[in-house]
Amino acid sequence: MDYYSDSLTKLINELSRLPGIGNKTAQRLAMHLLKVPKEESEALANSIIEAKNKVRYCKICFNITDKETCRFCSDEKRDEKTICVVQEPRDIIAIEKTRDYRGKYHVLQGAISPMDGIGPNDIRIKELLVRLQEVEIDEVIVATNPTIEGEATAMYLSKLIKPSGIKVTRIAHGIPVGGDLEYADEVTLAKSFEGRHEI
Ligand SMILES: [Zn+2]
Repeated sequence: MDYYSDSLTKLINELSRLPGIGNKTAQRLAMHLLKVPKEESEALANSIIEAKNKVRYCKICFNITDKETCRFCSDEKRDEKTICVVQEPRDIIAIEKTRDYRGKYHVLQGAISPMDGIGPNDIRIKELLVRLQEVEIDEVIVATNPTIEGEATAMYLSKLIKPSGIKVTRIAHGIPVGGDLEYADEVTLAKSFEGRHEI
């Protein structure tokens, strides 16, 4: 690494900290950024800063947004009596692509994982329970990933919510076990919504 100038070494180090970027790729990206016109690399740098400054979490569902509430929470045409619970904001995009679901969302920002030291208090479960008390909800669809963590989270939510009389359903296993929701194709995901069962 010391073969390069200090500023280039710094850039390579920063890039190699990004997920999925190894040292070699970081070097290639850094060299590319040096070669492109100044405006292009500035546009990239500025878009990172702008996104970091503007993007925040929706105060209702914890999806990513530029405003106080996200577009799904502020859309009055969506059925507010149904909440679909997902692990990450990108899962919402996967579900929206099916064009079948017209309810609201709640983003947990993770899943319960004792192995990684993530307990129920480390994800947005409390906030979901508050929502369930504030608004009349008919059904909570748990669309966490079909992984050990996702299943454990679904079971935990079911036990917590069911006593209040709200129907809790789990999407069916069209999605491969151990897989991520975001990688499921639209047809599979739409089918797993249709085939959801009460838990
Ligand atoms: Zn929202």
